[in-house]
Amino acid sequence: MADTMTPDTTTPETLQAEKELAEQAAAGEKRFDIGQFGEEVRRLMVVAAHPDDLETACGGTIGLLVRHGIEVTLVLGTHGDIGTHDPVMRREKLAAIRREETLAAAQVLGLKDVVFLGRHDGELVADLILRAEVANAYRRYQPDTVFTFDPYWAGQAHPDHTAAGRAALDAYMPSKMELYHLEQLVDGVKVADVKRFFFFGGSDRKGEIVIDIAPAWELKGRATKRHTSQFGQGEEALKWLAEWNHEIGRCCGLEYAESFSSMHVW
Ligand SMILES: [Zn+2]
Repeated sequence: MADTMTPDTTTPETLQAEKELAEQAAAGEKRFDIGQFGEEVRRLMVVAAHPDDLETACGGTIGLLVRHGIEVTLVLGTHGDIGTHDPVMRREKLAAIRREETLAAAQVLGLKDVVFLGRHDGELVADLILRAEVANAYRRYQPDTVFTFDPYWAGQAHPDHTAAGRAALDAYMPSKMELYHLEQLVDGVKVADVKRFFFFGGSDRKGEIVIDIAPAWELKGRATKRHTSQFGQGEEALKWLAEWNHEIGRCCGLEYAESFSSMHVW
């Protein structure tokens, strides 16, 4: 007698359900072609908390967008200076290592620039100073689109991620206003004009936008592995990431995917 308590993910019924989901997704244009996505975007800013956030959350999409001629800048909240289990490591040393790794990964992906906000890892707070610093980045780099963490997602376990998303969103409105931090509007720097926000999705909370990153999977892996202090270099190093991106893609019959949800701003 079959053990009905053990889920079998390879039954014909499951495969059929996956096929139907993929068809529904395609019919609803859930899956975005990267070229179509790129038509709306010219300059993109990623507001992240830790040195490896961009590569792991959206490195494939970023790689594809850069190759479509879109200018991408990273705003990085913290040094990532507690990201170790080595008790003899020191925070200053780790911060310096991770800064170099961030720049190396940015070079692999072809980012335009990285803005280091220099907070300590585990201590990022969406206060007024952080808001003004992010607003300053919006004004100086003039992104039309921002990728960040969803500050409203109740399942977020890392406070730095919530703070990065919160600060990114909080900076949006004041950065457009002439009288907000007037001292930033010098040497030709104008008020910001961010038009759209996308929050990183995940395998447990699908965004309405699912990007096929199979063409950029190798690139994403190469950029992620530049964070040598965080990931090994062998075949197994990125197994978790492959499984995660594979899981996100299951909804739409994609081998590797990243997902996003959009937020309407005006
Ligand atoms: Zn992080």
